[in-house]
Amino acid sequence: MRIDRRALFATAMAPTPTPAPIEVDEGFARQCESRLEELRAMEPLSGLDLRGLLAQHRFGRRAFLGWSAGITAALMLPPIFTSKVAEAAELTNRIPVLWLEGQDCAGCTEAFLRATTPTVSELILQRWALQYHETLMVPAGFQAEQSLAAAAKQYAGKYVLVVEGSIPGGANGGYCTIGASGQTFLDKVKSLASSAVAVVAVGNCAAYGGIPAAHPNPTGAMQTSDVVSGVPVINIPACPMNPDNLLGTMVHYTLTGSWPALDSELRPTWAFGTLIHDNCPRRGHFDAGEYVEQWGDEEAQANFCLYKMGCAGPQTYNNCPSIGYNENTSWPIRAGHGCIGCSQPAFWDQLARERSLVSAAQHPPGLFGLGVQSSADEIGLGLLAAAGAGIAIHAIATGASKLQARRHATDGDAHLPPPPAQSRGPGTETGAQGGAQTEGTE
Ligand code: SF4
Repeated sequence: MRIDRRALFATAMAPTPTPAPIEVDEGFARQCESRLEELRAMEPLSGLDLRGLLAQHRFGRRAFLGWSAGITAALMLPPIFTSKVAEAAELTNRIPVLWLEGQDCAGCTEAFLRATTPTVSELILQRWALQYHETLMVPAGFQAEQSLAAAAKQYAGKYVLVVEGSIPGGANGGYCTIGASGQTFLDKVKSLASSAVAVVAVGNCAAYGGIPAAHPNPTGAMQTSDVVSGVPVINIPACPMNPDNLLGTMVHYTLTGSWPALDSELRPTWAFGTLIHDNCPRRGHFDAGEYVEQWGDEEAQANFCLYKMGCAGPQTYNNCPSIGYNENTSWPIRAGHGCIGCSQPAFWDQLARERSLVSAAQHPPGLFGLGVQSSADEIGLGLLAAAGAGIAIHAIATGASKLQARRHATDGDAHLPPPPAQSRGPGTETGAQGGAQTEGTE
């Protein structure tokens, strides 16, 4: 595997642009209030009562408001919006959702469902107005197709279409057909997207093709945005997607009637606006040049940085360090494995490295493989030593020039200039060191 060291270093060291917060003014507050008013007047599409569910799972009002405050902060809204966000979460069951699965492993559905000890998020997701979901629904065969057709007709122009899995385009879409009629997934996504209010692509497969699209991509797997046009496409990537990111995005839509700001890869910036590397708990070790060199070594046991083991955190935008998975029980880097970049396009071919950077003779950023902070210290020490040498040379030179001046005065040659100063040494060394650093770290 060929590794582009220049690109790796550039992305590891580039500052992350800060996501722009939502512009919160009176107009925005009014927009939210009228949206909530409109939703209150609508009949719930799911019979489950959130307060009853919360009580059943021993979540009090305080826990629910605490959850709402967290989502409010994550969406970059001021705390005064907490009660509105709480109400929007309760009203998500007014938004009809059709959920399709194509070329996938159902991992995102599993993440959505995981309900052995459900969190507040999961209870809210359970109440979603899911009108169609092949893995979860009771009807099968023609009955399931009738349910889908009926829901698509009844909620045309209002439903959110969730797509899970990549969309094979090879053999005219024939690698993935769904249901008794044998309609291709490709046609199904296209036709249902045309009447949706928006399409939300969950997981890396739907967002960017995922593993099915990895080389040599035998089925011609495509991402959702390749086949959908005319409606907004929102990507919630990762493998699997984090249900909190899906829920936060839907709460934003429920509250405001609009979709959150997206980045160039169609990901909501509130969730995917920062590099994993910038918020990683191991970042201090990266800066200090303290790396795991081999699985299971002492450095691994001390939770040192996984960069040399191929960690893709410096190239990956996601909020894993702050929200984790499974009620923030863990996430890959906390569990001791480097990030594989699963929220990035083409991650399987480009970021999920099979070999560690150690075996690829890869050097981490910094001087002599010492890391950024160490390099700074090394340079600082070098400068100190060079400055000390410079002072000594300067003192010797000054003494010599005074001696020479005295000798010249004695000799009657007092008009001759003193010998050239020799204090350029440290500066020259610094320049050379800087050059070596650039070369060594590219
Ligand atoms: S473990 Fe990965 S994300 Fe964390 S500091 Fe190291 S390189 Fe960056």
